[in-house]
Amino acid sequence: MTYRIFTLALSLFVTTSCSHNLPDFTSRLSARLPTDSKPEAIGEYAMGCLQGAQTFTGKEKGLVLSQMKRGRYWGHPDLINLLTRVGIEFNNSNKKIIIGDLSQSRGGPTITGHNSHQTGLDVDVWFKILTKIDGPSFRVLETEEMKQFDELGDDQIKLIKFMAHDSTVERIFINPSFKKKLCIYSGSLKLTAEEQHKMRAWWGHDDHIHVRLKCPSDSPLCASQKPVPAGDGCGDDLNWWFTDEAKAGTADASWPELKSAYLDKIKNLPAQCSFYYDTF
Ligand SMILES: [Zn+2]
Repeated sequence: MTYRIFTLALSLFVTTSCSHNLPDFTSRLSARLPTDSKPEAIGEYAMGCLQGAQTFTGKEKGLVLSQMKRGRYWGHPDLINLLTRVGIEFNNSNKKIIIGDLSQSRGGPTITGHNSHQTGLDVDVWFKILTKIDGPSFRVLETEEMKQFDELGDDQIKLIKFMAHDSTVERIFINPSFKKKLCIYSGSLKLTAEEQHKMRAWWGHDDHIHVRLKCPSDSPLCASQKPVPAGDGCGDDLNWWFTDEAKAGTADASWPELKSAYLDKIKNLPAQCSFYYDTF
C-alpha cells in the first residue's frame, strides 16, 4: 500500500472515530484480497495481522466451510495445511468436519465474533461432524450457524486428539464441562499427558473447539503467548471454571461497546500491519 492511501485511511479513521462511526475500509473487510507477499503472521493473536494469507483450493477432502459470507477463511499456510490433513483423515472414514472462522484476508481485528483470529493461526472447528458422503468432498455453506453440542462422542474426541497431537498446535480452547469429560475419559482415544496439556478451558466453546497454532518459523514478528501453564489442566485450575467468579466473565458486550473496542484495537496494531487499513 502506498503512503498516500495509508494517510487517507488514517485520516478517515481519525475523523470518524470521534463520533464512533466505523472507518471506511471496514465496509469491505470480507471482500478484500490478501496482500501479494510472502505469508507471515505479524504481532499477537489478539492484536496483529496476516500478510500473504492463503486459503483452500476447493480440492481438499472431508472439509465443509460454514461461513463463507463472513470472508474469514484465510490463514497462514501452516493452518491451511493442518485443516487439509484433518480433512483427509475424516474423509477416509466417510466423514467431514465443519470449519468456522479462520482469519480475514489480511487478518486483524473483527468487530464481532472474536478477540483473536487476527494472525491466521486460529480456527474454530465444530463439534458437529457430518457422517454421510452427501455432495462433494469439499463443500461451502454461506451462513451456517453453529449448533450447541451436548455430548462428546468418539468422533469429537478423535478430532480433538488429532489436533492436540499435532506439533504445529500450541493450545486448544474448549468448554470447561467438555474439558472435564476429557479429564475423566478412559476409552481407547484417551489423550496423552502432552495432548491433555494443550486442552484449555475457556468461556463459550460448547459447540466448537478453537485451535491455535504456534508462531511459525517464517514469522519473526509473530508474538508468542505466555506458555500454557504446566500440567494437564484437570485440577484446581479447571475447578475454578465452575465458580461464580468464572461464570461472571461471560457477559455479552453491547454493540456500542464492541464498536469502541474495535476502534481502539485498530489504533494499536503493529506498524507492519499498515496494509490492514487498505481501502480496496
Ligand atoms: Zn475461535
